[in-house]
Amino acid sequence: MIIVGAGLAGAASAYHLRAAGRDVCVLHDNDLRRSASQIGGGLVNPMMARKGRPAWMAAESLAALESMGINTNQPLPGRDAPLYRPAGDITQADSFREQAAAHPELGRFRETVDSLDFVHAPFGILEVRRGAALDLQETASAWLHGIGVHAIDPAWKVEESGDAVSLSTSGGTFRGKRLLLCMGAGMLAHPLTRTLNLHGIKGQIIRLEKPTALPDHLPPLSGKAYLVDAGDGSVWVGSTFERNWESMDPTDAGRDALLHRAASVIPMLKNARVLEQRTAQRVTVPGTRLPMVGPLHPDSKIWVMTGLGSKGMLYSALFGSRIPVFFNNPEAIPAFCRVVHRSAES
Ligand SMILES: Cc1cc2nc3c(=O)[nH]c(=O)nc-3n(C[C@H](O)[C@H](O)[C@H](O)COP(=O)(O)OP(=O)(O)OC[C@H]3O[C@@H](n4cnc5c(N)ncnc54)[C@H](O)[C@@H]3O)c2cc1C
Repeated sequence: MIIVGAGLAGAASAYHLRAAGRDVCVLHDNDLRRSASQIGGGLVNPMMARKGRPAWMAAESLAALESMGINTNQPLPGRDAPLYRPAGDITQADSFREQAAAHPELGRFRETVDSLDFVHAPFGILEVRRGAALDLQETASAWLHGIGVHAIDPAWKVEESGDAVSLSTSGGTFRGKRLLLCMGAGMLAHPLTRTLNLHGIKGQIIRLEKPTALPDHLPPLSGKAYLVDAGDGSVWVGSTFERNWESMDPTDAGRDALLHRAASVIPMLKNARVLEQRTAQRVTVPGTRLPMVGPLHPDSKIWVMTGLGSKGMLYSALFGSRIPVFFNNPEAIPAFCRVVHRSAES
């Protein structure tokens, strides 16, 4: 089995295919700037939307994610600390209250949390149980532990013949029964996948020096910005959503917006020093905003798994855990997650 892409999608698929007894080899073009999984700190947040409604298949995604953390002997950092969402206004507080009442296994609403006196939360806080903060790339690397991962020249070619697929690069040829493409934003430009109904959204994230007056370890927070303690005296602040952009470089406007939003969650971050900035593209499926998985064309041995959007952690685990089942039975793929080409939309 050949997988192209060593981000969350490729890593989670490789993890589960190997657990199902398949020989797996992961190839990637080593272009760190293109990989969304290199963005830094991120959240696992099953109650992410503005209203705090549970993500689609939230419980199943969390179960898949947690089983992977335990099996790789890498318990999820922050796993025992809940994630907190300070409400931005009365309307959002009402929605949070409603969702927490409807889904007590996922969250509870609290008017105040004493240990969070440094957080600006005049409207109350949604405590998201089983939310977590982690480094996306460290997680992908942990899932790839013990699996052959090779950097390849980006100019590779694929041939399907009989019951095998061959992928040729300047460094040699890889053969497998199936090829799974998990190339994130690389899908948008690659000749094999550029007709897929996918859309890229640029996002910027910054890392701030943490003021010494803040606790040694901040819990994961999600307000107008999300905040993830990097564990080294700094804090990740994400993220911008840009539908149009001229360059993938970080911008001053993005940095200033993130600083402003970080200070709206923790006022002490107002003048914090910016240590680092990164950008990447989230790939989403317009209309569903759910992942896309399946054969590139009916009966093809070339498959795709992409469109994780902003829920890379939850959906890489969920869809990675289902990939061995989908390979045996493509009918098991939910209809709204199947492959759609733009040219075939009409
Ligand atoms: C700013 C920002 C903040 C985010 N925050 C969060 C968060 O808090 N929580 C969360 O769950 N998700 C978050 N996400 C989303 C998450 O990062 C993505 O959903 C996830 O990382 C996508 O993983 P992927 O494996 O599909 O793609 P990628 O991580 O982009 O991996 C693609 C892989 O394919 C390889 N590749 C690409 N093209 C080629 C090619 N032509 N040939 C060979 N290899 C190729 C790349 O080198 C890479 O290894 C965020 C995204 C952004 C941009």
